[in-house]
Amino acid sequence: MARYLSGEKREFQTCTNCVMDTTDSKIVFDERGVCDFCNDYYSNILPRWNNVDNDLELMETARKIREAGKGKKYDCIIGMSGGVDSSYLCYIAKVKMKLRPLIFVVDTGWNLNVAVENIEKIVKKLDLDMFTEVVNWNEMRDLQLAFFKSQVPYQDTPQDHAIFAALYNFAVKNGIKYVLTGANNATECIRPPIEWVYQNDLTLIKDIHKKFGKVSLKTFPLCGMVRYRIFYPLFKGMKRVAPLNMVEYDYDKVKIFLKEYFGWQAYENKHYENVFTRFYEGYYMPHKFGYDKRKCYFSNLILTGGMTRDNAIQELQETAYSADMIQEDKEYIAKKLGISVDEFDELIKGENKTFEDYKNTFGLIQIGTKVLRMLGVEKKKFR
Ligand SMILES: [Zn+2]
Repeated sequence: MARYLSGEKREFQTCTNCVMDTTDSKIVFDERGVCDFCNDYYSNILPRWNNVDNDLELMETARKIREAGKGKKYDCIIGMSGGVDSSYLCYIAKVKMKLRPLIFVVDTGWNLNVAVENIEKIVKKLDLDMFTEVVNWNEMRDLQLAFFKSQVPYQDTPQDHAIFAALYNFAVKNGIKYVLTGANNATECIRPPIEWVYQNDLTLIKDIHKKFGKVSLKTFPLCGMVRYRIFYPLFKGMKRVAPLNMVEYDYDKVKIFLKEYFGWQAYENKHYENVFTRFYEGYYMPHKFGYDKRKCYFSNLILTGGMTRDNAIQELQETAYSADMIQEDKEYIAKKLGISVDEFDELIKGENKTFEDYKNTFGLIQIGTKVLRMLGVEKKKFR
């Protein structure tokens, strides 16, 4: 079967409107040199998205959630990371929507103190209940090592999958129908291309673990696409709601608000909520694969008016963080994973692979997403 990611070299080109470029092998430019992400944003996302408070929709959604949760201890659940999106979501849910959310935290073993402190401040001030699921470290470590050995770019998959699966499995198991997500158009209209960030694919996870893992995944949270997209919503009544798309969401204003209201603290970068993510996004991906996720974050900001293209280009010329800190993180991560720094360096030097070198359900996911897009459920660009 033909490969989706052919690996053919293209002449390097950067979008004239944002900072996405041909390190995304499937990017398409129009005659003005504007990429398909930008064109999709202006023709599909922006016209349907007014970044203003939609009180009617927010209140109606809140009413439905309260109604469904009558007599129950919690009427919804929020997966909380301590970052901007989920922190603000807690505020919207409790103060604006008058809901009774359970705050759900997943401890993957990598959380930064600043994130944990943010969570505690918000939970305390809003007087919310919190549940922390601690992922078995031995299993987490084994799966993460297996991923490094597999040489695929998506080293955040073990953590991301655990966080995602734990939340949805917990919600369904405990009869909490509404899952509130921090998904929003403002910071997520440009998604990283599939070769940078591969989807939630249990087949791939299991195959990589089978080939390179040593410890069996007895308690590790797992949830496949069929269970998540079909079984949970259709047979368990699970509903996902994204309230941040119903309120004005100005990233910088929200950050200031969180600081003033909760004493919340920012990380250096939106997604560096832990050491592993910082190392993986700031060093491993750009160094080993030439993929720089800041290009997505910055392009989002350019489209939504939070950054100029010139500033983005300037910032991209600097490494994401300092060489000293990279070395420090490398040593810390190697030690935590139980390997030497030399062994870790060898792993990083290995031959690059993609999901197509392993069992996967990419074809099925692609068809499913195309159908959702046709039905208008999925508005974001997918490739
Ligand atoms: Zn663009």
